[in-house]
Amino acid sequence: MPHPTGVRVLNRPSVFSNITKKSAKRNIDPEKLDHVVRTDLADPPLSRGSMDRLHSRDVRKSLTAHLPGRSSSPASKSKASPKPSPRIAPAKPARLAIEIESPPLILHGSPSHSTGALLSGQLLLTVTDPEVTIQSYEMILQGRMTTRKPVGKDCPECTTKISHVRQWNFLSEATLFKVGAHNFPFSHLLSGQLPATCHSELGRIDYFLRAEATTSLGDKFATEYALPVQRALMPGSDRNAQRVFPPTNLSAIVVLPPVIHPIGSFPVQMRLTGLVESALKDAQKRWRVRKMSWKIDETSRVVSAACSKHAHKVGGEGKGVLHEDTRTIATEDIKQGWKTDFDIPGGQIEIEFTAALNTNKQPVCDVESPNGLSSSHLLVLEIIVSEEQVSLKGAKYATPTGGARVLRMQFKIIVTERAGMGISWDEELPPPYEDVPHSPPGYLSEFQGDINQLPRIEELDLGDSVEVDSSSGRA
Ligand SMILES: [Zn+2]
Repeated sequence: MPHPTGVRVLNRPSVFSNITKKSAKRNIDPEKLDHVVRTDLADPPLSRGSMDRLHSRDVRKSLTAHLPGRSSSPASKSKASPKPSPRIAPAKPARLAIEIESPPLILHGSPSHSTGALLSGQLLLTVTDPEVTIQSYEMILQGRMTTRKPVGKDCPECTTKISHVRQWNFLSEATLFKVGAHNFPFSHLLSGQLPATCHSELGRIDYFLRAEATTSLGDKFATEYALPVQRALMPGSDRNAQRVFPPTNLSAIVVLPPVIHPIGSFPVQMRLTGLVESALKDAQKRWRVRKMSWKIDETSRVVSAACSKHAHKVGGEGKGVLHEDTRTIATEDIKQGWKTDFDIPGGQIEIEFTAALNTNKQPVCDVESPNGLSSSHLLVLEIIVSEEQVSLKGAKYATPTGGARVLRMQFKIIVTERAGMGISWDEELPPPYEDVPHSPPGYLSEFQGDINQLPRIEELDLGDSVEVDSSSGRA
């Protein structure tokens, strides 16, 4: 399948995602690597720090080997295939790196209830020249929605939609920085309504921090950091669901956990009643369970919106195409373990079994993004019952009548991340950087008068809000 960057996507996670993660984890940004490779070429053998560079060069080799699409970017094209000349372009005067200090970003609760997740970290500017004047210095937290079914094949605008979640401008005017490291702290409370990071069969939602600096000479350098955002829906009480199967008297009650997780198993309880169809004078017709099985289906949906250039393909601007894909991510036959009781009125069968998602299938959590990407799950239970007739006189022997039925039940299940050790930010409440004052709040030194003359709290005139309250009848 073609990919926007020209990388062939073979399996999930894609080659592209591996590289993004790799570069994020090791804090290697392509710009820096370019710098490393170029200095290598010019370097005398085994100078100070050359081991580091050698290591980085190996990383770069392995990156470029998997990343044919990278060569199409203008930055690397000029550098990746330099003319065979001993003259090497000068190294960048500085480099950027992002360090995240906050714990993994987990949105606790549903989009309508979540208070969000707190992101904080440092943007590090390391100046390698004696000094450099930075003209602009900014960072963007962006969300990227990528469809695997773009309207215009190989069209980057159709494939990826970028939204800006937050932007930081670290400088209001050109500023001179001396050699060394300069830290810029940042923080942001991610909205609880944001869709979580998702890599489904049909599309992806990713978040990135992208920082870029431009020197007064027009030299640009940048870095990017992949920022996974997870959602953990709070478990509540178990869910009971009932299904009936007319024209028979069969009825099933199934008990399911409120949420399940991509890793780990979960219990399912079922009680099937109404097994005895009819009681004749000296015989009984009843259903016997022959086979049970369960499976979990994952449905991915994506709305591929067209770019302005390809809008004509879908009938105009702002329109898209809905794609849907369903795959089975776990299945099992239940061969035994149920208890059949024909002696209680109507007869019943009880069973409890354990189900789990197959992690090899890389299940994704439930997500419902406003831009059309969603993932949902169904537990499907299938029971095959056959009819038999039993004589109630003398020896009780059952004779199959030849009748059989397939009882099929579907239950929506919610797959979500474990809340784990994560604590919702508002329960822990670390202050964001912008909330920390430069100095402790001062005393009311301007107040000149008798403290005892101050009105008591209850007597304070609260102004408009009181009037609003009284008009709505609550005051
Ligand atoms: Zn397009």
